[in-house]
Amino acid sequence: MKRLAFYSFLAVVLMFSASGFSLTVPKGNRPVKNIILMIGDGMGTSAVYAGYTLNHGHLNLERIRNIGFSKTYSTAYVTDSGAGGTAISTGNKTYNGAIGVDSTGKPAETILEWAEEYGKATGLVATCAITHATPASFISHQASRSDYELIALDFLKTDIDVFIGGGRNHFAKRKDGVDLTQKLKEKGYSLAYTMDELRNVKKGPVAALLDTVHPVKWLEGRGNMLTESVNEAIRLLSSDKDGFFMMVEGSQIDWGGHDNNINYLATEMVDFDKAVGAALDFAMKDGETLVVITADHDTGGLGLNGGSFETGEIKAGFTGTNHTGVMVPVFAFGPQSEMFSGFQENTDLFFKMMNAFGFEVKRK
Ligand code: MG
Ligand code: ZN
Repeated sequence: MKRLAFYSFLAVVLMFSASGFSLTVPKGNRPVKNIILMIGDGMGTSAVYAGYTLNHGHLNLERIRNIGFSKTYSTAYVTDSGAGGTAISTGNKTYNGAIGVDSTGKPAETILEWAEEYGKATGLVATCAITHATPASFISHQASRSDYELIALDFLKTDIDVFIGGGRNHFAKRKDGVDLTQKLKEKGYSLAYTMDELRNVKKGPVAALLDTVHPVKWLEGRGNMLTESVNEAIRLLSSDKDGFFMMVEGSQIDWGGHDNNINYLATEMVDFDKAVGAALDFAMKDGETLVVITADHDTGGLGLNGGSFETGEIKAGFTGTNHTGVMVPVFAFGPQSEMFSGFQENTDLFFKMMNAFGFEVKRK
């Protein structure tokens, strides 16, 4: 939580020569205090509708009025989650497999790191190892997404206030023999290995490493871990008077898509939507929180060939077991959410969030 500068209430004009992109916050627009960014990994529009069907014709996402589309291509036509996450976290289209680095391999500052510099509290929540591509791309700078132990080391280089997910082995059972959970304690972190332990943490910083690698599927008993984690993270982060940035990932929608398993995919979608509901409830009460919900890419090329809202049954077809190139939805709620409607690049999401926070991008 370094404090470099405080935002002004004046018009903020951000020019981005690198991307040729420019945005203006209209005069008098007060910067938002908090941003909750939620990424459904692999959450294409048909994944959303599969969840809607399984949940008998209801989703919390329907509470949102400002909706757009994101073009997810990386330097390749079809992105992976490393490049997809890095596009949203840093505003750079990069190569597949990249974590927080641009297409030349140079580290690019992430929105989470910007938030930290501006004195905000920061958090990451995921239903996979916290070192996995999507959360990693917000906090780490590595050439390859598969270097989990290097990614874990990068967590120690930041002052992130709350992180919740799996991945305990990447911190505590490492090839180099270093126990990073010990290092975290030395830095003042509370360590939590169960949801009960997390609930008992009075204040941050906290590292909640709830599984050795990945939390199990919702179908296999993960329960309410994601929504509870979001609520605990909000409880801990919202005590910072400067506000917070948090990224929440519904990680396993994607894995249901890779498996061409509609039941896996749709249950993960409904679980993610519950967490969306928790974030929206907070944002409605708070009034100074922008919630942005999107996907890094579609997975599986899911088609819904039939179904029933009554029984929740879905007749699914998939075009393959990999990601696809189609655009994905962007839902935005709260102050400055209008900015996120329309057809946009995934990289625009970074600049729009920076703009909503009133942060000035200083290109190095
Ligand atoms: Mg992911
Ligand atoms: Zn995937």
